[in-house]
Amino acid sequence: MVGVLAVQGDVREHVLALRQLGAEPRTVRRPAELEGLAGLVVPGGESTTIDRLSRVFGLHEPIQELIRDGLPVYGSCAGMIQLAGEVLDGHPEQQSFGGIDMTVRRNAFGRQVDSFEADLPVAGIEGEPFRAVFIRAPWVERLGEQVEVLAEVDGHPVAVRQGALLATSFHPEVTGDHRVHALFLAMCVRAQT
Ligand code: GLN
Repeated sequence: MVGVLAVQGDVREHVLALRQLGAEPRTVRRPAELEGLAGLVVPGGESTTIDRLSRVFGLHEPIQELIRDGLPVYGSCAGMIQLAGEVLDGHPEQQSFGGIDMTVRRNAFGRQVDSFEADLPVAGIEGEPFRAVFIRAPWVERLGEQVEVLAEVDGHPVAVRQGALLATSFHPEVTGDHRVHALFLAMCVRAQT
């Protein structure tokens, strides 16, 4: 079973996307709800809030431990920020779960053009380019050698994978195109075998 971290953000959209792919996602607000998961989605929203509430609810350390143990985790937008080893332009007290050896900059595409959409080829996703919706999105400024870039905008990585961890700056959960979620579910299945 795949979990969706449900402390803040567009939890519902991820739950629906996963359900439409035949998964039965479990929303996670308590450490006990992490038990037995095959994967975890960290939704978009506000990374400062997701971070703060994850710590308040005692989820921060258990999630870090699961990441270290190889649990597949997919983060979109604020979720990508949560998976970054280093966060620029964050709140001074902001912490991330980490896991992906990268530095991301919050709200990097500029405050004037808060939101935009682009048709992106994404490595590992067959067929037509993916309609990517960016909302006050981060980009990746530094990448470790083990991180694979799956998509870029103007030379900035916006979809990356390191081992069992997947992150996108954009929000595939809002488009009705579930190919990124399908890619993640395949990673979860692979991790079980
Ligand atoms: N700007 C938000 C943050 O820094 C992320 C935006 C999003 O998830 N759409 O957390």
